[in-house]
Amino acid sequence: MSSSDSEITKWKDKYYNALDELELLERSNKDTSALFCRALIRLSLAAKGFNQQLDPYLLRVRNQLKQGISNLELANELTKFSEALLRFEDGTAEEPLQDAGLLFDFLIAQETNQGKVGALNLFRNQYDTGKIADAKSLLQLLTKFCAPETLEIDHCTSDLNAFSANLDINFIAEQLIQLIQDMDMPDTLQADAKKITQALKKSQTEESFREHVDAALALLQSIKKHGQFEKKEMEIFLAHVTQQLTSLGGSVSSASVSTKEIFVKRNNLDLSVVTKMEELQVSSASATKLEPLKQLIKSELDNISAQIQTYKQEEKNQQVKTEQLVAVMAAEIEAVKAEAQSLKESLKQVSVQALTDVLTKLPNRAAYDQRFKAECARWHRNKEPLSLLVWDIDFFKKINDNYGHKTGDKTLIIIAKLLSQYCRETDFVSRFGGEEFTMLLSNTNSDAALVLAEKIRRIIEKTGFNYAGQAISITISCGIAELRDNDTQETLFVRADTALYDAKKKGRNQCVIAA
Ligand code: GH3
Ligand code: MG
Ligand code: MG
Repeated sequence: MSSSDSEITKWKDKYYNALDELELLERSNKDTSALFCRALIRLSLAAKGFNQQLDPYLLRVRNQLKQGISNLELANELTKFSEALLRFEDGTAEEPLQDAGLLFDFLIAQETNQGKVGALNLFRNQYDTGKIADAKSLLQLLTKFCAPETLEIDHCTSDLNAFSANLDINFIAEQLIQLIQDMDMPDTLQADAKKITQALKKSQTEESFREHVDAALALLQSIKKHGQFEKKEMEIFLAHVTQQLTSLGGSVSSASVSTKEIFVKRNNLDLSVVTKMEELQVSSASATKLEPLKQLIKSELDNISAQIQTYKQEEKNQQVKTEQLVAVMAAEIEAVKAEAQSLKESLKQVSVQALTDVLTKLPNRAAYDQRFKAECARWHRNKEPLSLLVWDIDFFKKINDNYGHKTGDKTLIIIAKLLSQYCRETDFVSRFGGEEFTMLLSNTNSDAALVLAEKIRRIIEKTGFNYAGQAISITISCGIAELRDNDTQETLFVRADTALYDAKKKGRNQCVIAA
């Protein structure tokens, strides 16, 4: 080998060695790069959730690393991320307004102007897509928009960045308070609403204001949920009522359904008979031999007769069913009628009891009041005379004292009987109370009343009362008054009672007409 040959071989070896080294280096670089990517992905995963503002950047970097990204692109992404991180650390980054969608819902629900609703929808879209950078800008924009001197919509959209005025916290607070007050507030949320309204009324920093806005939005959300819950309750209730009505309707209409069924079956039978007849006509017209035709007619007639038999049986069954149903309904109606009747009777009994004196079985004072009103109305209509008699047993206390309370009771029962026995049928006797009785004599003036009263007084005087074989004299006194113009129930009674008092004063056992 010449020296030049050995030189070439030496360079070749060097070249191949260098190639091997380069290959090794590239492989090592690739490994390092893969390691770096994995480390970055893990880091971004670990940092996830640390701050909501940074999360989207982290997600982007992570996705791009997974899909493969050039060093240059990666450098760009990391720069953007660093800038976001810096803004966050400076405190210039804004947290997004929680539930801005709900705020838009309420503002739109309140707005009657369709143009403004359109503008609000536009703002919502711009906020959702990030064209309105942060909550502060959004609130500034909405403040301007809701203020009376609202800018034209076109201007609002094009001049978004021009709103650099200070955030009008008070205005927004007032709007929120108004919104809360306008809501139909459920009882369970009243206390919260009061607390939030008070918090919004106080002057506050931007930070505390944000908290209160969030609380107000949460409250509005709760109201919305409550409304949905009530709606659900109402739906369940309505479903229940509907079900009850349906079953009620079903039982009422079952009778008419049976009748309809019979009608439908009869129609079907008619149709079937007509069809069979037509078929027979066709068959007989085309028949060439008599015997098969006879067979055919016989079998079809058997068929029709069987159908009629079935129909008759079904009709009979249906009729029985309908009759049973009608009988059940009639029995139910009867039961309801009987119940109503017995209720009526017991009501009548109760009202009779309420108007009857238990001891003497005469009408009581309440019955007297009722009757007096009726008689008085009649008197005003036809002016026929009406007299009131007030009776009182003389020295009744002595009867009780001398012979006992039971004898007193028996005496009251006998006097009551005598009073009602000897007055006319049209007269009305009642036990007014104690040993006092009243009589209303219609179509009777005071003189005629005195005649009747005297007759009764004498009968009682003559009645032989006795106690354990010993005769007791019992007498009764009476005051009489005739109804006059301008008399009330009370004035008439007072006059009769005064006359009774006179009778007592004059020695008892007598009847006196009122002055
Ligand atoms: P005068 O002639 O002035 O009417 O005297 P009098 O004793 O009848 O009147 P007074 O008002 O002094 O007494 C009435 C008595 O009637 C007193 C009361 O105990 C009695 N009395 C009231 N109700 C009943 C009752 O239901 N049964 C009985 N046994 N006595 C009664
Ligand atoms: Mg008395
Ligand atoms: Mg008396």
